[in-house]
Amino acid sequence: MGIKYIKNELFIEQISAVKLAELCDTPTYVYSKKLILNNFNSYKKAFNNDIVCYAVKANSNQTLLEILSNLGAGADIVSGGELFKVLRAGINPQKIVYSGVGKTAEEIKYALESNILMFNVESYEELCAINKIAKQMNKKARIAFRVNPNVDPDTHKYIATGKHGTKFGIKYEDAIDMYISASKMANIEIIGIDTHIGSQILKIEPYKLAALKISKLIDKLESLNIHLKYIDIGGGLGIKYEKNQKPPKPIELKKAVMSVFGKYKDKTLIVEPGRSIIGNTGVMLGKVIYRKKSGNKNFLIVDIGMNDLIRPTLYDAYHNILPVKKTSKKPITLDIVGPICESGDFIAKDRKFPLLEQGDLIAVECIGAYGSAMSSQYNSRKRSRGIIVDGKKVIHIRRRDEFEDLLRLEENLEKYL
Ligand SMILES: *Cc1c(COP(=O)(O)O)cnc(C)c1O
Repeated sequence: MGIKYIKNELFIEQISAVKLAELCDTPTYVYSKKLILNNFNSYKKAFNNDIVCYAVKANSNQTLLEILSNLGAGADIVSGGELFKVLRAGINPQKIVYSGVGKTAEEIKYALESNILMFNVESYEELCAINKIAKQMNKKARIAFRVNPNVDPDTHKYIATGKHGTKFGIKYEDAIDMYISASKMANIEIIGIDTHIGSQILKIEPYKLAALKISKLIDKLESLNIHLKYIDIGGGLGIKYEKNQKPPKPIELKKAVMSVFGKYKDKTLIVEPGRSIIGNTGVMLGKVIYRKKSGNKNFLIVDIGMNDLIRPTLYDAYHNILPVKKTSKKPITLDIVGPICESGDFIAKDRKFPLLEQGDLIAVECIGAYGSAMSSQYNSRKRSRGIIVDGKKVIHIRRRDEFEDLLRLEENLEKYL
């Protein structure tokens, strides 16, 4: 289902990747609608009385946001731009939570005007800023504190957020004092508690450890007469990038946290999945441009650059790569690299892969999350097209840049500001 070989050719739902490459050229991000629906619905089913806030930063494509909005998704946002996009997609403001360590005054004002559910506050100074701006607007800001529970999610250091020494959240030991301060602020309404321990998490234990620590805080707060309505457990469930990985399912996450939070009958859970909604739903189609040998190394030079997919170089991430047409060629050890002038521009290093020919198509798997969202025009490359395949239909969700797009922000300017 979704993305698989039929006979010897890769299909996305009912359309062959060869045909898609003819229609769309390469490189192109290709997503399966069915897989998007499946992933979201497995959260919706597991978290049936809760709020599923899609973490927009994983992939903020507007059509995708509309699809998720229609399925009843909320949103976890981290910028004013994301707020703009999710409101435009029709997401209910009462299902929007706002995370991030650096919300500006302008962004806070916009979120208050939009009447979002809550701010996940990450510092004392942010709390004061929100209180002040809410006062100017004659409003009460609903907040939760994002608490750093100091647990190790066992993931890449750039995506571990719940350990001491990261910039995220407030220190566990400071949480109670922070709630007490907030409870005295006239334009703050405390409604929740939040934690997010990291990303690409493949074990359920860290969630349970975090839940236990958060639960201690909730009990202490109740004893201080500070009552919460929402427990936001963050996102971070991993996906299967490599064969040996077995990520937990949403239902397992729900069971693990409910083993701790089940006793709070008056509280609603919020979950903020990004990668596990969109990550495995898409492949990037690309093409071999050249082959070469340097020293003892074989290279396949393809048209997918780090501007299209930065994860391998940014996170040492592994992406499985498939030949679009199965080949009888034996796999050899080679590097699959892009055209960009950086040694960090690679998709795979020392990978066993057949030495395909010029023009042959490849599909890089699991590019749905942090793929397109992190793309750029580096090297003045045109950002790539995006499509969703729905059965036999192709939905165009993002056009490829044209050369003119490379100039758009840099011409017809006033000479001096
Ligand atoms: C990035 C992020 C998420 C989503 O993480 P995934 O690993 O994509 O599920 C959720 N909440 C917050 C606060 C985040 O920063």
